[in-house]
Amino acid sequence: MHTIQNYINGQFENPSNNEWLDNYCPANGEIYGQIPNSSKDDVERAYQAAELAFPSWSKTTLDERSRILIKISELLEANIQQFAEAESKDNGKPVSLAKAIDIPRAASNFRFFGNAITQFASESHESVGQDAINYTLRQPIGIVGCISPWNLPLYLFTWKIAPAIAAGNCVVAKPSEITPITAFLLGNICNEAGLPKGVLNIVHGLGKITGQAIVEHPYIKAISFTGGTKTGAHIAKIAAPMFKKLSLELGGKNPNIIFADCDYKGMLETTVRASFSNQGQICLCGSRIFVEASIYKKFKTDFIAKVNQLKVGHPSSEATQLGALVSKQHLEKVLNYIDIAKKENGNILCGGNQVIIKDYEGGYYLEPTVIEISTNDCKINQEEVFGPVVTIMPFNTENEVLHMANAVRYGLSATLWTSNLKRTMRLTNQLQAGIIWVNTWMLRDLRTPFGGIKASGVGREGGFEALRFFTEAKNVCIKY
Ligand code: NDP
Repeated sequence: MHTIQNYINGQFENPSNNEWLDNYCPANGEIYGQIPNSSKDDVERAYQAAELAFPSWSKTTLDERSRILIKISELLEANIQQFAEAESKDNGKPVSLAKAIDIPRAASNFRFFGNAITQFASESHESVGQDAINYTLRQPIGIVGCISPWNLPLYLFTWKIAPAIAAGNCVVAKPSEITPITAFLLGNICNEAGLPKGVLNIVHGLGKITGQAIVEHPYIKAISFTGGTKTGAHIAKIAAPMFKKLSLELGGKNPNIIFADCDYKGMLETTVRASFSNQGQICLCGSRIFVEASIYKKFKTDFIAKVNQLKVGHPSSEATQLGALVSKQHLEKVLNYIDIAKKENGNILCGGNQVIIKDYEGGYYLEPTVIEISTNDCKINQEEVFGPVVTIMPFNTENEVLHMANAVRYGLSATLWTSNLKRTMRLTNQLQAGIIWVNTWMLRDLRTPFGGIKASGVGREGGFEALRFFTEAKNVCIKY
């Protein structure tokens, strides 16, 4: 059993109320640790530490900030095995995945923003004929709140924290209470890297108490949130009358559109990955697969054959491709959606059942599931399941599939498979999504804007977009 503590002012401490929550291991369903059930008081303490650190941190040279961020990145890389195992145990994802994706990406987030801040520049405008020059300062906001979900715990936590501190802010952050361990471990690394105390403060606890206290805090001036659409709407309601800056990265129900003229082999392999990586618990997964009618039958046979080969197993086994879902409640939610699909006359082509792994009978395992549907407007094709469940359905024309792809409340990402350039241009222009991949999926360049439209959120993360979010623009006009 381990005990997680809050990280405030560079030190580890128990929650002030001494209340604790259980930390479950999804691979066997057992309690394996205790997490602070932090209250408003702990958020206040974190805020006070951040406020104390801000005057000095905001004046730290870019070179120094960059050096510290890159040091954090190096230390994460040096401790990759420990972090990958911890992430896997907390979340249920295969250790191999955490080692290949989650932890390297968390390290890249720090390295990327450590470098980006040294290149971040502001504009100047000469007001010709008026003898004046304008220049724009990009000043840190002050104390900002970062709240992240459980699916890619350290990866998404650091995606917010790194640009926030690079830009000179001090942070009060809360990871998901379901997956707090790697955020807890990060505290030690920040100390070792020489991050001044109070620049980053991590408070663990429930969203509706600890998270809400961050959002409600009158002097935390910006909130960067990734999580569900319902929670995002709730946060927006609280933050709007206080005029806080908000970045909301929310749910998705992303179309994966496959035309007959695509590179079939590449498409098939990537579609399996886009459907089931991280047990389908990635906001960018292509959960609605639309296939051109002329290759639908072939695709269906080949796809199901590949999905049937996927190995569900204990996260620490090298052979495992799908580990456990994150929690019992989430497993039940996903199973409930499969039931709904059956009631809607969805045809379960493979999967659909819980998997019992010998010696880990209490774990939350589920077969990768493919459901054939006949209309786009059914619940299983409209609501975010966020598990190893995809639908497939055929289409006949470009207009028909464009309409179906857009006829959903979300607009996070879309994937398109075709070798026709004109079609690519037509569709990428009209698809309603913040991120579109053509003939690939999840190919990420951290300089690009990342985020969604419609119910998938507001604002963009990544590159200079993130640094702009975490700074206030102040224009100075000098008449000479
Ligand atoms: P939630 O919205 O339930 O939670 C996200 C975070 O917000 C957690 O830390 C949670 O804490 C906290 N929280 C919950 N209620 C409040 C509140 N009232 N005030 C402040 N904070 C609160 O999402 P999940 O953790 O279930 O994550 C899954 C969702 O995240 C999916 O919908 C997925 O699509 C989305 N997501 C979006 C991404 C994107 O980039 N667009 C990327 C990854 C995921 P706690 O866990 O303790 O409740």
